[in-house]
Amino acid sequence: MQIEFLGATREVTGSKFLITTKGGRRILLDCGMFQGKGLDTYNLNRDIRFEPSSIDYLILSHAHIDHSGLIPYIYHLGFRGKIITTAATRSLCAYMLADSAFIQESDTNKYNRKAQRNNLHTASPLYTQQEAHRCMELFVTTEFRRRLQIDENIAVTFYTTGHLLGAACSVIEIKENGKLYKIGYTGDIGRQKSYILRTPEPFAQCDYIITESTYGNRLHESQEDVKKALLDVVYNTCVEKRGKLIIPSFAVGRTQDILYVLNELYNEGLLPHIKVFVDSPLAINTTGVFLENTEYLNDNIKRTMLYDDDPFSFNQVDYVRDVNKSKAINKYRKPCIIISASGMLEAGRVKHHVANNIMKPKNTILIVGYCAPTTLGARIQQKGLKQISIFGSMIPVRADIRSLEAFSGHGDYREMIKYLRCQDPDKIKNIFLVHGEYSTQEEYKQHLQESGFRNIIIPEKDSRYVLQADGAVKI
Ligand SMILES: [Zn+2]
Repeated sequence: MQIEFLGATREVTGSKFLITTKGGRRILLDCGMFQGKGLDTYNLNRDIRFEPSSIDYLILSHAHIDHSGLIPYIYHLGFRGKIITTAATRSLCAYMLADSAFIQESDTNKYNRKAQRNNLHTASPLYTQQEAHRCMELFVTTEFRRRLQIDENIAVTFYTTGHLLGAACSVIEIKENGKLYKIGYTGDIGRQKSYILRTPEPFAQCDYIITESTYGNRLHESQEDVKKALLDVVYNTCVEKRGKLIIPSFAVGRTQDILYVLNELYNEGLLPHIKVFVDSPLAINTTGVFLENTEYLNDNIKRTMLYDDDPFSFNQVDYVRDVNKSKAINKYRKPCIIISASGMLEAGRVKHHVANNIMKPKNTILIVGYCAPTTLGARIQQKGLKQISIFGSMIPVRADIRSLEAFSGHGDYREMIKYLRCQDPDKIKNIFLVHGEYSTQEEYKQHLQESGFRNIIIPEKDSRYVLQADGAVKI
C-alpha cells in the first residue's frame, strides 16, 4: 500500500494523508483546511491533489477545522464515501462546518462587491452552508475501543487522545497479500492532565505511526501554575489597571477550558466582580455539545457537575450571539474579560476587539494557544513590537501582550513521548512526524531518538511512500 502526505507537512494546518491499498481502496485520514498562510491559503485549499469521488473512507480524528474543514469542499467535488468518527466529533462538526461555510460565504460576498465596483473577476466560496449541511449525512459514528470492520480487509479502532471532545487516535488494520498491517494515526495529542477531558489512552501496537509534533521542542508550565497565572493576569489587567483583558481563543476546546477555570475561580470566590463576555456564536453552540456528551469528560469536571450543573457559566458570564451586541462591547467602559475567536487572530470578532484595544496600555491581550508563524497571533507576540497592521491600518501597540501556552490542547514533547510509550519501539517500522514546524520536528526527532524510537521520517508536502513489511520506501 501507499501513503501520500498532502497537508500538515512541516507545518501545522491542512492535515490530509491518503492511504491507497493494493486492492484499490482509498482511505483519507482527516481532510483539514490550510489556515493563516496569507494569499497562498486560497490556492492550497483548492488544490487538493486527489479525485474526491475515488475516496472510500475518511477517518476523521477530530473536529478542528485544520483537520475537518475541507470535508464540505470534497463533498462539493463529488466525495460520497463514509466519514468514520466519534459521535462527539460529528456533533461538533455540524456546527463548525456550518460556521466555516458562513464565514466563506460572507467573505466572498464582501470580496465580490468590491470586485464588481472595480470590474474585476468575482469569486465563489469554497463551499456553501447547504453543502456543509449535506455532507453530514456521510458521517458514521463509532465508540472508543470498539473495533469497527469497515470492509473485508480493513478495520478501525479509536482511542481517546484528550485533545478535544471526541478526539481520537485511530488504529487502522489493513490486510494485504495475507499480511496484516497496523497503522496508527494519533491526530492531535492532548495533555496528560486536562481540565475537562479524559487522559490520552494507550493504543494497540502498530507497524507504522503518523503523529503530530506541534510542541515537539517545548515544555509547558504546570496546570496549577496556569490557574494562578490566569488569575494574576485578570487582577493585573482588570483590578490594578482597570483595563480589558482580551483572550483570543479557538471557539471549540480552548474556550471551554478557560471558562471552566474561570468558573472554578468564581466558585472559590477568587474571581473579581467583572463581566466575562464570550463573544462567539460558535463557542455558545458547541459548549452545549460538551454538556450533552459527558461520557467524554474526566472525573474532575464530573465532580464539579454534581453541585454545579453548568461548569462553563456563572453569573458574570455574558454569551454574545448578536453582531450588534458584539460591537457594543467596544462601548463598555468598565474592566472586563473578552473571550473571542479565532485563536490565531486570523479572522473573527476577536480581530476587531484587538484592533480596538491594543493601543491602550491598561489593556492586555492574552494568547492561550499555538499560533502558526505567519498569523497575526504570532506577529503580535514579537518582542519590542511598536505597531502592527490590522485591517490594513497601522495601530500602535501599547497593551500588554502575554501568553499562557499551557492552556494549549496539545501536549508538550514530554507528554507526547509519554503517550507514545504504549508502543514497543522495536516493533515500529517507521514513525512519520506531521503537524509541526520543520525546525520543531527536527528537535522532536532528537527527543524521540533519545527515548529509543528510531526510523523517524519528516515527510515533505505531496511525498509518497510505499509501506512494506520491513519499512517505508519513498517513491
Ligand atoms: Zn486540533
